[in-house]
Amino acid sequence: MNMIVKDAQSRDAVERGIGAYLDEIVALRHDLHRHPELSFHEHRTSDIVATRLKSWGYEVETGIAGTGVVATLRRGEGARRIGIRADMDALPIEEATGLAHASTNRGVMHACGHDGHTAILLAAARYLAEAGRFDGTLSLIFQPAEEIGAGARKMLSEGLFERFPVDAVFGLHNWPGVPSGQFGFVAGPAMASVDQCNIKIVGKGGHGAEPQSTVDPVLATASLITALQSVVSRNVDPQEMAVVTVGSIHGGSASNVIPESVALKLTMRAFNENTRGLLGERVPALARAQAESFGATAQVDYRRGFPALINHRAETEFARNVALEAFGEGQVVSDFKPRTASEDFAFMLEEKAGSYLFVGNGDSAPLHSASYDFNDAIIAPAARYWVRLVETFLA
Ligand SMILES: [Zn+2]
Ligand SMILES: [Zn+2]
Repeated sequence: MNMIVKDAQSRDAVERGIGAYLDEIVALRHDLHRHPELSFHEHRTSDIVATRLKSWGYEVETGIAGTGVVATLRRGEGARRIGIRADMDALPIEEATGLAHASTNRGVMHACGHDGHTAILLAAARYLAEAGRFDGTLSLIFQPAEEIGAGARKMLSEGLFERFPVDAVFGLHNWPGVPSGQFGFVAGPAMASVDQCNIKIVGKGGHGAEPQSTVDPVLATASLITALQSVVSRNVDPQEMAVVTVGSIHGGSASNVIPESVALKLTMRAFNENTRGLLGERVPALARAQAESFGATAQVDYRRGFPALINHRAETEFARNVALEAFGEGQVVSDFKPRTASEDFAFMLEEKAGSYLFVGNGDSAPLHSASYDFNDAIIAPAARYWVRLVETFLA
C-alpha cells in the first residue's frame, strides 16, 4: 500500500472515530457552556475533564494551579514528548445569546470559547486513547485562569514542565470572523504583550466658579490623554505595532465642583520587548510631566502583565505542514495576521518550543461579547487536527 493511500485511510479513520461520539462531545460543550466558571474556580469543569480522561485510561493529575488538570498517556518506547494545552475558564459577562444552552450562572459566561477548546481537546484525547497510533508520551494540559493571565504562570511555577516534560507544546484559539474550520499559523510574534497602568492625577479641589484657587486635575487629565497618543505616533518606530488605550476615566461628581483627583486606567500592547519597554518608560514619564506642568502630581501604578506570544519558527512550520497535509491549502492560512489581543500561553512558549494556532469560528459575534458563542462545527476538524499533530510528532 503506498503512503498516500495509507494516509488517506488513516485520515478517514480519525474522522470516523471522532464522528462516532461527536454528538456526545457537542452535548458536553453545551453542558460546559451552561455552567461557566470564573478563573481559578473551574471546579466542576475540572472534575468533568479529569473523570472523562481517567475513564479513557489516562494517568491524571489534578489540583495543579488549583483547578488545573494534566493527563498523560505513554505508548511504545519512543522518547519524544508532546504537550497540548486547552484553557477552561469563563468571563464575568452576562450572557445575551438567548440560546438553549445559555449560561445558568448569572453574570458568568463562556464568551471566549474556552468551553469549545476544552471539548476539542477531550474529543482528541478520547480518539488518541482508543485508536491513536503514536510512539512516545502525550501530555494534555487543561489550564485554569487564562482570562486573568494567571493560570499558565501558576502551572509553570508549580513545576508543570518538570513534572510533565515535553519537547514542544501547542495550543489553539477559535477566531470569529475567520471562515469556520480554517486554520491560521503565525511564525514569530502572534499575540501582543499586555501591561496595565493606573494613573491618579492629584490636584487641589474647590469651587467650580473659582478655578484660580484650585489645581484642576480634570484639565491636566484632558491634556495627558491627548499627550499619551503621541507615544505611539511619535516615539514608537512606525514599523512596530503598539497600542495605548485609556479605557477608564473617573473624576468629579458635580458640574460646579473641581475635584481633588481624577483616576485613569490604561492598557498597553506591543509585539516586541523593546517597544514594550518604551511604552513602560514613556507613559509614566508623560503622566508625571503633564501633571507637573499644571501644578498637579501623578501617582503611577504600572503593572507588567504578560509578554507577547512568540511562536517558535520550526514548530510553527511543523504545525502548519500537519494542517496542510490533513486539510489541504484551501483550509490553511499560512501567514495569518498577528493579533493585538493577548494570551497567557505566551509564558509556556517562553519555557518550551511550540506554537499557538488559530481556528476560524465563522461569522460569529466577537470574543468577549455577550452575544458570542463557540461554533460547534469546528470541534471535529480541530480535534482531528490535534490527533494528526500528535501522531505526526510522535510518529
Ligand atoms: Zn478571552
Ligand atoms: Zn480566550
